[in-house]
Amino acid sequence: MKCVKWIFQYIRFMADDENEHPSSVEPIPKLFWSDLTESTFKRCMLCDVDLVNSGKPYFIEKAFKTYKGRKETSTIFEYAMCLSCKTEMEKRISEQSKAALQRHFGQRMDPTERRKRFAEVEDIHVQLEHCVLDGQRPSEGGEYQIIGLCIGGWMIRDEFPYMIRGESVDELIELISNETLDELRGFMDENFSGPPEFREILDEVGPRVLI
Ligand SMILES: [Zn+2]
Repeated sequence: MKCVKWIFQYIRFMADDENEHPSSVEPIPKLFWSDLTESTFKRCMLCDVDLVNSGKPYFIEKAFKTYKGRKETSTIFEYAMCLSCKTEMEKRISEQSKAALQRHFGQRMDPTERRKRFAEVEDIHVQLEHCVLDGQRPSEGGEYQIIGLCIGGWMIRDEFPYMIRGESVDELIELISNETLDELRGFMDENFSGPPEFREILDEVGPRVLI
């Protein structure tokens, strides 16, 4: 029951009287579960906070690889990060990079329009079919990332969750200065508390994890 209280607090916090399409919630769909543990994420990969019982909102991000002529995908990386860590991480982004990212998103994504478009769509997968930035489906043999916002065992549905194609992620990375990318990597190095295997993946995929 505790979870339900947090969700209502969160929804009130997000509620905008003028918004015809307020946030709703649903149990975290399997697509956003950890492939590694075959269950929902339990801990923040940076501060190790208990995501199930703390009531802290958190993001889940997973990246997939697609194959030409085949339906199946493979997971490249996955993690959950609490809102506090995400906020701390964002403090490392320079004003210039932040402004460039906001402009880029602002020109390509209208949160109100997105909420309206998906308000009546029950199947969450439909909301993830097209890239939030360029409106395209993931290319065959390419990569894509999905990002969702959760509280306890629940996923928030409004402009979240969304999908970003690998091509759009590359464009985002180009907007971030090298200094900021170094800062973000440093932040990860200092704070990472997850399993060593994930540490290796982080090193391998580099800044894509940070988007
Ligand atoms: Zn955290």
